[in-house]
Amino acid sequence: MIERLQAGHRFALRSLLSLAARRPVDSLLARLMKAAQRRSRCERRPLPDVLHELHERVRTCVRRRLKRSGAGDLRSARGWKSGCCSSAPRFVGDGSLGGLCRWLRAAGYDAEWKPGGAAVDAAPPISGGESPILITTNSRFLDRPDMRSSAVRVLWVPSNLRRIEQAAWIMRELSLTIRRPRCMVCGGEIVFVEKNSVAARIPPRTARWKDAYQLCRACGRLYWEGTHWEKIRAQLDRIQNE
Ligand SMILES: [Zn+2]
Repeated sequence: MIERLQAGHRFALRSLLSLAARRPVDSLLARLMKAAQRRSRCERRPLPDVLHELHERVRTCVRRRLKRSGAGDLRSARGWKSGCCSSAPRFVGDGSLGGLCRWLRAAGYDAEWKPGGAAVDAAPPISGGESPILITTNSRFLDRPDMRSSAVRVLWVPSNLRRIEQAAWIMRELSLTIRRPRCMVCGGEIVFVEKNSVAARIPPRTARWKDAYQLCRACGRLYWEGTHWEKIRAQLDRIQNE
């Protein structure tokens, strides 16, 4: 478990450092990883926690350096922002990432997961154009030589984080902001509808106190902002402000 988390952090740190470095990052990466192990031992703190802190610090430094140099945000520096600047990235992950994908949908991003892990393990590198970003917690998958290419759209996510923390990690890794939510069931676009047009589907008690309703264009699920959604919104606001 620890070894796999270390391998994932090494991959994620290498990706980050490469965005702002003028020379190969191998020696710097090795020094940072050793320093984290030393710190974990000296301070008697779990190594995953220390690595997480290290990653957050490095990300902040890289983001500031990119901004100073006019290289844009973390997503454009990776070359993963194509077409219209306002276009949102899409995500695809393996079957274990269903909960994470639902949080990404709530944050307004198109995200889907494939059954099982084989879909991601066997997936060819995703690169270029408008292709989705592959998200994975599987660090063994990252050992493939082709995963080192900066053109490959793959983002490792720590498996020891809660689902919403994983969503926050992805958003920070790509400088993303909260958007209008998508359907948490199918990922489809949600649009406002006239109350009268869906009156037959609204529970009577809800109809008495709610006037705004939204419909998923893909699966037809009806939404209104009740207490459940308010809790989701509060958690999204919190990760946005972290
Ligand atoms: Zn839907």
